[in-house]
Amino acid sequence: MGDSTVRIGLVLPDVMGTYGDGGNALVLRQRLRMRGYDAEIVEITLPEPVPNSLDIYTLGGAEDSAQRLATRHLQRYPGLQEAAAKGAPVLAICAAIQVLGNWYETSSGERVDGVGLIDVTTSPQAKRAIGEVTTSPMLAGLTAALTGFENHRGGTKLGPEATGLARVTRGVGNGVGDGLEGVVQGSVIGTYMHGPALARNPELADLLLTRALGVDTLEPLNLPEVDQLRRERLRA
Ligand code: GLN
Repeated sequence: MGDSTVRIGLVLPDVMGTYGDGGNALVLRQRLRMRGYDAEIVEITLPEPVPNSLDIYTLGGAEDSAQRLATRHLQRYPGLQEAAAKGAPVLAICAAIQVLGNWYETSSGERVDGVGLIDVTTSPQAKRAIGEVTTSPMLAGLTAALTGFENHRGGTKLGPEATGLARVTRGVGNGVGDGLEGVVQGSVIGTYMHGPALARNPELADLLLTRALGVDTLEPLNLPEVDQLRRERLRA
């Protein structure tokens, strides 16, 4: 692995990775390799400290007890927070939004302090949000509808430092009545979309990659199978 290798951190896939969220790291690696970049996935599992030197980080969803283990680990080893402060892009899926926030309440109503990287709080809602979610992006650089599968009971409220990723056109999203899905703060992008999110939303994958590489644009990839997947999912 040379100095020019792009290193993608897959953070705690042993506890945070429901619905194939680890696939997001594979998508990033593949889209880099197809454009001629060297790219590797660095898996950081529970006993290991989180390095602050990687180029981009992804974290997946989890259920309550796994989510709590991950929270404690990230508080103990703040490499992710240090990397985000330096501008490294971070993609947080579902429970990872909750973990990276100020606090979240578990489904039994217990409040757990989060990592404090993003200005959000999460409380369980009366009804679990489950099904397809489609949104219209609010983040500059994204133009196409976003699509994913959501399954969460937590509803996430944004504080003044955070903004929404998108407006919900179908499904629930953050679930607190503001019509928003996901969160953006600094270099962190969070979403409730599983799928994996980046397989379904190549524009989001490339936005993260331009930031990781420090380039304005990337050569487009012509992948009819990805277009077909999107058409199917948006029709579903
Ligand atoms: N346990 C969290 C919730 O239900 C997150 C679930 C998930 O990551 N799929 O809100």
